[in-house]
Amino acid sequence: MSGTVYIISAPSGSGKTTLTNELRRLVPNLEFSISYTTRTPRGSEQNGREYFFVSRAEFHKMISRDEFLEHAEVFGNYYGTARRFLAEAASKGKDLLLDIDVQGALQVKQRMPEAVSIFVLPPSRETLEWRLRHRSQSEGGQAEEVIERRLRMAAKEIENYGNYDYIVVNDQLEQSTDELKAIVIFERLRRESGEAASAAEFSDAQRLAERDRLANAQERIRGILASFDVDQGPAVSAKP
Ligand code: ADP
Ligand code: 5GP
Repeated sequence: MSGTVYIISAPSGSGKTTLTNELRRLVPNLEFSISYTTRTPRGSEQNGREYFFVSRAEFHKMISRDEFLEHAEVFGNYYGTARRFLAEAASKGKDLLLDIDVQGALQVKQRMPEAVSIFVLPPSRETLEWRLRHRSQSEGGQAEEVIERRLRMAAKEIENYGNYDYIVVNDQLEQSTDELKAIVIFERLRRESGEAASAAEFSDAQRLAERDRLANAQERIRGILASFDVDQGPAVSAKP
């Protein structure tokens, strides 16, 4: 195992938590970095499981002690990845999965260009709105203004999709989970840190992963970007 860092970003409500939980269940030797945040726990969240919930004062102390690999302010709260997760995963020879926003992803890519970045898109703005409201109901409800703000923020975050290595559209959960898994398997094999069970496993992973490479996904995501009023920008030539 190479100690590769996988970054996953997505607008809130796209299904990133659901997807990363599936990925952790299905792919061995992938540690999850539990972030620190100053926001309050939501629903059934527990300290030390989904996040470490800390005060702003504690967060600032951690910044001054240079304990974060990256940190950012998202929706008025601070979020950060502790360096110790990186060191711990590397010492165990495991890969590390970061669920972080677009600002954090940029910081990590600048420091670690070899990290693999994946942007998860919802199938459309309408579906994202439905998922946000549905999740809110099952967690006891969120203020309407929170949902509205997250929808507005989604378009801003999606504007950054072009900075990522791979794009996964989370439409059918099973399909998107297969795609994420294929990306990790393919990257491991490419970096000679994984073992394919068979030549068929390798070519399946390669086929699925290549399809999601930024350049190869451009055409498929055109309609999704349009639903968020996000410009596609100049076409990137597809890799062979
Ligand atoms: P995020 O972590 O991106 O904010 P969640 O994982 O909490 O999003 O998912 C938001 C809501 O959408 C949840 O209610 C979840 O069950 C649902 N969801 C996630 N993925 C899918 C999918 N592929 N199809 C339908 N519903 C989904
Ligand atoms: P939520 O509050 O919905 O769990 O997360 C809000 C946003 O913060 C999501 O986009 C999530 O990826 C991001 N986030 C969670 N942890 C971190 C982190 O450690 N660093 C950064 N930069 N963003 C994070």
